[in-house]
Amino acid sequence: MTLSPTQEQIINSIDDKANLSNWKDWRWQMRHSIRDLDTFETLLGIQLTPEQRKAFTDTVEKFPMSITPYYLSLINTDDMKNDPIFRQSVPSPDELRILKGDMSDPLHEDQDSPAPCITHRYPDRVLLLVSNTCPMYCRHCTRKRKVGDQDTIPTKSAISKGIEYIRNTPAIRDVLLSGGDPFLLSDEYLDWILTELRSIEHVEIIRIGTRTPVVLPYRITPELTAILKKHQPVWINTHFNHSREITQSARTALAMLADAGVPLGNQTVLLSGINDCPRIMKSLVHKLVRNRVRPYYLYQCDLSEGLSHFRTPVGKGIEILESLIGHTSGFCVPTYVIDAPGGGGKIPVMPNYLISWSTNKVVLRNYEGVITTYKEPDSYEPTFCDRNCDSCDLMLNLDDADETKAIGIEQLLSDYDQTISLVPASNARHSRRKAED
Ligand SMILES: *Cc1c(COP(=O)(O)O)cnc(C)c1O
Repeated sequence: MTLSPTQEQIINSIDDKANLSNWKDWRWQMRHSIRDLDTFETLLGIQLTPEQRKAFTDTVEKFPMSITPYYLSLINTDDMKNDPIFRQSVPSPDELRILKGDMSDPLHEDQDSPAPCITHRYPDRVLLLVSNTCPMYCRHCTRKRKVGDQDTIPTKSAISKGIEYIRNTPAIRDVLLSGGDPFLLSDEYLDWILTELRSIEHVEIIRIGTRTPVVLPYRITPELTAILKKHQPVWINTHFNHSREITQSARTALAMLADAGVPLGNQTVLLSGINDCPRIMKSLVHKLVRNRVRPYYLYQCDLSEGLSHFRTPVGKGIEILESLIGHTSGFCVPTYVIDAPGGGGKIPVMPNYLISWSTNKVVLRNYEGVITTYKEPDSYEPTFCDRNCDSCDLMLNLDDADETKAIGIEQLLSDYDQTISLVPASNARHSRRKAED
């Protein structure tokens, strides 16, 4: 790779003796992260108006800034206001606008934490928060409450307690390292965490959520990929929001991970003024799959404080899915999800394809608007399930049997559970009944 003119200008302003190998050194990038306005202006060779400066200063007092020189170099200074890189990384006074209904921890991650560094929301998987810092502070961060907060740096002993919780909870088969960005830890430290997790028999897969391929691609080194390879299966989810972020450096990082046998996914946040456009989204997903990254989730922007200017109506996400499903390869289409405020987890949302239904036929529509019917079997004999797999004709290898109890809607549908309804804990009609007892 060679440096672009903007990158030349940035590197020379930081240190006129620095060269390409400094630029590609992730620790050099971290040491020279842009955290104040003066450096920002100098490096980009621009000057903000006094009003812009004032708005910026007010904002960073509450929500700090940090941008890698690499990510900064992708900003198009000719039209900064609308630039997707600028808007994701540079503080805006809109962040100080808190709307009714905004919350500091909308997903109740801090409440669903039975052990240090753990968020345990789903039956079989947990988040293990191993790092509290990031190479770039995304302006749309759902954990904005924690950004730059020195008190929440997870210590080694806290992480050990989190790992102990996982060791003592056999239901956990999937551990997601998150943070902060786990790839800001040193290779040795990551190797230690992965080794500890791998020593737990019931942990089948480890996932890492990292934005380094987007904002600090030089973090993906041969040493790091060798460690990941050693602890397979390790899955990685990254976070590209705009096709402009898929640069040569990012492509190289993704190729190194894919070549190490790491399955790659991408989580995009739907952001007003950045990627709330079917054409931008299609170009993003196409570029991702060309680089062996499977679009995994498209997130509706959370209700965290300071994000109101990034939110779109849910309809925008549905419109985007409508423009992808059928129009392009199935594996280019992410699942659009709303992370339930209050901690209910991710809820998928889709356009409707099922138009109507009778006892033996369904009416569907496709992406072109064609309406069609599917004739259901007249003689389907469902297998009655009493969870006694030994006497069942379907051949489940019992060693692999899922021992968890059905919950939620699955429970309502099951043959072996007598539950006929799910009732909110605060249901007034039911509390009257109790009073009569
Ligand atoms: C997103 C998330 C997961 C993982 O969910 P998947 O749908 O399996 O990707 C696990 N725990 C928490 C708390 C999460 O927010």
